This record gives sequence, structure tokens and C-alpha cells, in this order.
Amino acid sequence: MNKNNAKKFVAYSLVEVESDVNKFVSEDRAHPAVEKIYDELNILISILQQIGYNPNTNIVLDNVGQEDKFKSISYHSEKLALAFALIRKPNGIAPIRIIKNIHVCDDCHVFMKFASVHIGRTIILRDLNKFHHFSGGKCSCKDHWL
Ligand SMILES: [Zn+2]
Ligand SMILES: [Zn+2]
Repeated sequence: MNKNNAKKFVAYSLVEVESDVNKFVSEDRAHPAVEKIYDELNILISILQQIGYNPNTNIVLDNVGQEDKFKSISYHSEKLALAFALIRKPNGIAPIRIIKNIHVCDDCHVFMKFASVHIGRTIILRDLNKFHHFSGGKCSCKDHWL
């Protein structure tokens, strides 16, 4: 993969909190609140693991170690976007809206279902061609999206 290729397609997620639109890429370190976002996300991941979420590292290429695989899926842009929304609006009741410019991956889709149970809020994730309404551990797409 050529990292210097300026035209390289970059996957990202957008999340709007109080009319402030924030953009994240996978493993993003550029956001001013980066430390808080990763702390929030790491806590959320471990809570969700306790209620049955099992990070799906099978989707990552095989030439990286297990720990790197875990990192590379754990910090997908939509997970970072969700963590940011939770920091900014921890007790909100309105749905959290995230927009992603490519298809949501299998692991993030499962993650969002568990997250909707834990946080007790609807998460609306619009990916390349579908709206996913995650609520109470289920998604409106009934797991048909690829
Ligand atoms: Zn993902
Ligand atoms: Zn879905």
C-alpha cells in the first residue's frame, strides 16, 4: 500500500454534536480531544465485552499480530465518532447520528448493536447506501447490508 499516494481513498465518519460536525478517520490521532476519546472508547469496549461483544479480528489481514488486529478494528472511525458523541452528550436521549462514507464493517455493526443496549440510546449510522437504526441490540437492516 502506498501511503504517499495523495489520491488514496480515505474512509471516514462524521458525527454532529450540537451543530458541530466532527470528522474521524480510523485510528485518528488528530482530534483535540483524542486522549478522552480513546479513554471513553476503551472503557466502552470493555463494558460491551462483558455483555457479550466479541471483537471480530478475523476481518483484518493476516500479516499483523493479534494485538494489532485488535487495535485496527477497535479504532475504526465510527467507533471513535460514537465515543466522541458520548463524551459531549453523556446523558442525552436524542439519537446519535453518524455518517460513514463506506460500508460499515461487520465488527462495527455488531459493536453498535451492543452499544445501543448499554447506552440506552438509538444510534443512527448512515453508511454508503443504507441507514442503520441500532436500538435495543438490533439493527433496522436485520443484518443485511453488504
Ligand atoms: Zn469497522
Ligand atoms: Zn444494520
